[in-house]
Amino acid sequence: LSDKLQNTFSKLRSKGKLTEKDVKDAMREVKLALLEADVNFKVVKDFIKKVQERCVGQEVMKSLTPGQHVIKIVNEELTALMGDVQSKIMISSKPPTVIMMVGLQGAGKTTTAGKLGGYFKKQGKKPLLVACDVYRPAAIKQLQVVGEKLDIPVFAMGDKENPVNIAKAGLSHAQKNGNDMVIIDTAGRLHVDEVLMEELKNIKSEVRPHEILLTVDAMTGQDAVNVAESFNDALGIDGVVLTKLDGDTRGGAALSIRAVTKKPIKFIGMGEKLEDLEPFHPDRMASRILGMGDVLSLIEKAQEAVDIEKAKELEKKMRKQEFDFEDLLDQFEQLKKMGSMDKLLGMMPGMANMKNQIGDVDLQNNKDMKRSMAIIQSMTVEERRNPSILNASRKKRIAKGSGTSVQEVNRLIKQLNEMKKMMKMFTGMTQGKGKKKRGG
Ligand code: GDP
Ligand code: MG
Repeated sequence: LSDKLQNTFSKLRSKGKLTEKDVKDAMREVKLALLEADVNFKVVKDFIKKVQERCVGQEVMKSLTPGQHVIKIVNEELTALMGDVQSKIMISSKPPTVIMMVGLQGAGKTTTAGKLGGYFKKQGKKPLLVACDVYRPAAIKQLQVVGEKLDIPVFAMGDKENPVNIAKAGLSHAQKNGNDMVIIDTAGRLHVDEVLMEELKNIKSEVRPHEILLTVDAMTGQDAVNVAESFNDALGIDGVVLTKLDGDTRGGAALSIRAVTKKPIKFIGMGEKLEDLEPFHPDRMASRILGMGDVLSLIEKAQEAVDIEKAKELEKKMRKQEFDFEDLLDQFEQLKKMGSMDKLLGMMPGMANMKNQIGDVDLQNNKDMKRSMAIIQSMTVEERRNPSILNASRKKRIAKGSGTSVQEVNRLIKQLNEMKKMMKMFTGMTQGKGKKKRGG
């Protein structure tokens, strides 16, 4: 889905002004991309209609960067589709909070029950896992292994007891032992059927859980959405955990569930390990689907920081190869305004790895940059504009004034010269290309 949308968007971005037809064409591509990603048909239809209405509005057509504006609208509507704000688990004011895990076999109930236990334990809660799947062979053992790994107690009564009784006994066990969170793992079947629903309804009416969490497998796409609809109709659910999102490249289920069931996705499973659970953030998911990281805020940030007039002036200077220390100082100032490298990289798509390699370079408080700036600030205007007059005695004076050394001053001069050389190469290249074009 990401690739398709990015293609469409880069086409849009390259256009100066947008016509209604441009928007229509782009919307047709977005529509196809969503359908291919297995997003529910009706959801797609409504979505496109909303986006299109907003896009042909005054706001976009008048905007200086209409392509950018359309992308922003798509992003906002995708977020709205998934629920706008993060939906949390309601913690009961009268503990224990009871969470009942439901879903088809293999969806990830047992794994997620454990992950949730771990999640709440980290928040200082005292969870208890209750083993109510008495049908699947070794289901109880599986939950016990999970509990052991996380050092969370597991309440089980073997596989001969009725699940409703186990759930009730589990609850009173929690009350006696000071567990403020009860997570009930139930059985699933291969398909939604009445026997399964009947049992779940019985547990529900006896235990009165605060939260019925449906676990669905993201990789099953529209099936996941249908399952969610069935469970919601028959049992009533409070939220969804979308598992195996690590293996889902299409995003269809994530986009449709909320719109179809009106129930929010609360958590996402991002892997088999017990720490691979994350609260679901609609805005982040939208960015992920658009495959652009948080590009929008990056653009906003860059626009804030970079003085357009100065940038143009600089370009002119680069062409004439007049770049001097005053310009370098300007550059430092602008970099400083951008904040930290860590944040910037985090906003760029595909840069998460790079971020780890570089670590956090704080542009606002960068030591090297501060020293370089101090050196330039200790120069006279004449020296900044014409670095070739920097002789030994001037360098000494500058080093003293900036609290640095002559070596450092020399290094900065060398840096400036290298930058100039690079610019010469660069402008030489682009000018060369331009000439060729004119010639041919
Ligand atoms: P249950 O039948 O609903 O209880 O499902 P299980 O908890 O037994 O999980 C079924 C399989 O899905 C197991 O192999 C899990 O390791 C795997 N699984 C569960 N959640 C995730 C997830 O978020 N990502 C991946 N990759 N695998 C998962
Ligand atoms: Mg299970």
